[in-house]
Amino acid sequence: MEAWRRQLDDPVSAFPIARAGPAHIATLKTYDPPLRALEGRRFEGVERRGKRLLLPTDDGELVLLVHLMTAGRLRYLRAGETGPKTPAFRLEFEGGSQLVFTEAGAKKRAGVWLLTPEQARGELEHLGPEAYGIGAERLAEICAGESRRLHSLLRDQRVLAGIGRAWANEILQAAQLSPYALTKELTPEEVERLAAAIDSELARGLELRERGAKDDRTYRVHKKLGEPCDVCGTPIAQVDFEEHTIYYCPTCQTGGRILKDRRLSRLLR
Ligand SMILES: [Zn+2]
Repeated sequence: MEAWRRQLDDPVSAFPIARAGPAHIATLKTYDPPLRALEGRRFEGVERRGKRLLLPTDDGELVLLVHLMTAGRLRYLRAGETGPKTPAFRLEFEGGSQLVFTEAGAKKRAGVWLLTPEQARGELEHLGPEAYGIGAERLAEICAGESRRLHSLLRDQRVLAGIGRAWANEILQAAQLSPYALTKELTPEEVERLAAAIDSELARGLELRERGAKDDRTYRVHKKLGEPCDVCGTPIAQVDFEEHTIYYCPTCQTGGRILKDRRLSRLLR
């Protein structure tokens, strides 16, 4: 997300918005203020809060909030540059450049909100502190305050903002911790390893994205079922949930144990 932010920060503030829309009904989540209210205004730049991008107007009256989820893409097209024919959302700037938003797949989960600054504050209130730079001390407090499995805690934006499913997998493998480890049972040394892995993995991801690396070059564990762990060579294993899949190294992370899909094993018992 930070790579997106840096890429878009300058171009979106270069020109005022000439035309706002059209927007797909499933993508634009708000109707008041109307999208047209953006026309004639200029963005100040792009800010990031967790996995959300915020584009405030330079008059301080409106904020465009974009949540890409997993399949959303936001692209800036220079004047004359060709883009998708029917993006889910489009902004045209004076001079002809455009900001276009697309979402792959049938499930429309990503979204765009046009908000007043007060509404934006309300939307963001429930977000936890930024994961990057959280530090061992603060992380220890968070882990002690929540009794749950580590993978689920890392992905919870109300607890820590900015880590998705893929990076939760990468971070836990780098920290050599089980996705099923209970947060309250972590030793101070394990929390320290986790805090260091959060920073190093998010920084690694950012650097690779900025160089334009594709997903399969970026990830070491995520979606790497059966491929050798980069630390020990053990084939990467997975455990499925309804909405996501956890990938991990059974040697580095779980002491050789294969994690069970708990819903399924409960049914079979
Ligand atoms: Zn390993």
